[in-house]
Amino acid sequence: MGKIIAIANQKGGVGKTTTSINLAASIAAIGRRVLIVDIDPQGNTTSGMGINKADVQSCIYDVLINDVEGEQATISTAVEGLDLIPATIQLAGAEIELSQAISRELRLKKALVSMKPKYDYIFIDCPPSLGIITLNALTAAESVLIPIQCEFYALEGLSQLLNTVRLVQKHLNKSLEIEGVLLTMFDRRTNLSVQVMEEVKKYFQERVYQTVIPRNIRLSEAPSHGEPIIVYDPRSRGAKCYQNLAEEVVMDNE
Ligand code: ADP
Ligand code: MG
Repeated sequence: MGKIIAIANQKGGVGKTTTSINLAASIAAIGRRVLIVDIDPQGNTTSGMGINKADVQSCIYDVLINDVEGEQATISTAVEGLDLIPATIQLAGAEIELSQAISRELRLKKALVSMKPKYDYIFIDCPPSLGIITLNALTAAESVLIPIQCEFYALEGLSQLLNTVRLVQKHLNKSLEIEGVLLTMFDRRTNLSVQVMEEVKKYFQERVYQTVIPRNIRLSEAPSHGEPIIVYDPRSRGAKCYQNLAEEVVMDNE
């Protein structure tokens, strides 16, 4: 049965999408069946996987709002073993439409029930907010992986996220766990990166991954080529680090 892991942080630009694509692709590369569910209306995971949104027949919006089956919205990607449920800008309307809907926080969970047996890992790439879409992800997931960017305001807003996790545990999903905390865009030349790392480790302790993702230009170039880093530049530092992370995540779970 696939483990469902939400990749969440309500801050934008911390590496959620980069981690969704590259962790998922690196886990697929070691022979696991992996699905990424893009639930960010910006659809950066979708385009970053080389999918032209204009060609998308049904997306996660249809799954959440129009009762389309998860299977029907799933497309295979150029990476063997890696599938995707894409998002398009249509999803922007879902936040409001869902606010009126019955069992509005449970839509994604229900949709993924039939998908779970087909995969080893299902990653959900969350939008940069704590609205109803992210609540759907945290309700569907078994755990949440939190990327934290090594910059000055890194920890600001984190208490809000942890508070939301606690609320979800209380009301919607008792067994939700923290899968791990990932430091991203680390720059070892700056004291600030080192300070943030120390603070995050003090707070989250053994839940922080050993693997730290460095700032790496190749990681930021890959999406415009529609490729995960292991395809775009497998020899880059970024590729090596996401492969290490993939091994850590698999080790934690198997
Ligand atoms: P989020 O999904 O949290 O908004 P993204 O993964 O889209 O964040 O990352 C924000 C920006 O930073 C993107 O342009 C991305 O290419 C870039 N980026 C992410 N991780 C790295 C990294 N480790 N090194 C360099 N650039 C990165
Ligand atoms: Mg994103």
